Amino acid sequence: MTTRNESDPTNQSANRTKANRDNNRRLNKSAKEVLALWKQVPAKRVVKGDIKNNIDYYEYDTDIPITQVSEIINRNLDTDLDSRPFNWYFDEYTERAWRSGTIQENAWVTVLLSGTALAVIPTETLFLSPTYTVSLELLQDGSYLLIKNLANTTTSQIMQVIQSGIASGLSRSAIARKIVERFEVSKSAAARIANTEINRDYNNARMGAIDAYNENGIKLGVMHISALIATTRANHARRHGRVYTTQAQRRWWASGANRINCHCSTRGAVINNKNEVVDKKMQNKVRARGREFFKK
Ligand SMILES: [Zn+2]
Repeated sequence: MTTRNESDPTNQSANRTKANRDNNRRLNKSAKEVLALWKQVPAKRVVKGDIKNNIDYYEYDTDIPITQVSEIINRNLDTDLDSRPFNWYFDEYTERAWRSGTIQENAWVTVLLSGTALAVIPTETLFLSPTYTVSLELLQDGSYLLIKNLANTTTSQIMQVIQSGIASGLSRSAIARKIVERFEVSKSAAARIANTEINRDYNNARMGAIDAYNENGIKLGVMHISALIATTRANHARRHGRVYTTQAQRRWWASGANRINCHCSTRGAVINNKNEVVDKKMQNKVRARGREFFKK
């Protein structure tokens, strides 16, 4: 059986860390380039006479063209194209999540089916199935649109920071600080995207494997496994140990903000014709752990 970190049921923390580091590096590089451009904009200092105090006011001949800011950010995030380019940098992380979800679910199902006459599907067969390949492509397209959208939002927000700084007559270094702050906001937005997407892809791969078994006539549902950590939402923790069909689980994740920053996962469970778990003893044990969460 695979050992898993209970507080990270998707087991993707290393992958998420790598993806976040990559996004941060790309956004930091963008910030550096935008700041270099900003340094070149000529400014003159005007001291505004005032009865009580003298206020320094800065006047700029021009701002930075939006096309240049947009070019910098899109180049660093590789988001110039309308659709996902071949070998886009983020695909590495989604594919890793996807592959490990498939491998881990199939290892789990192998345990479930051991001692029964039911056949395990080889993992390579799962990888080669057309449904699998198409769904991975669709997930990667989805990630691309989110990060492309982040690039656009960042561009317009950076422009806004520069233009309102100029309008207020702020100094060059004060505006530079605001540019850096705005890139920090984009970095946390990027982290939310990366964490959510990677966990989603991992879980979709696990559920995709279950679908493949169901198509082969083997009745499996998915048991919701919650991280049960301080940030776990109560309505996620309450599902810990409950079993659903893959359709119902997908529908739940798709509704509202359930996906956002969700650390929950699922694993297969053998169910009967009434969609009830066959191994009640195991389910009760998992459910008991879920109830402990609410006692803290
Ligand atoms: Zn969750």
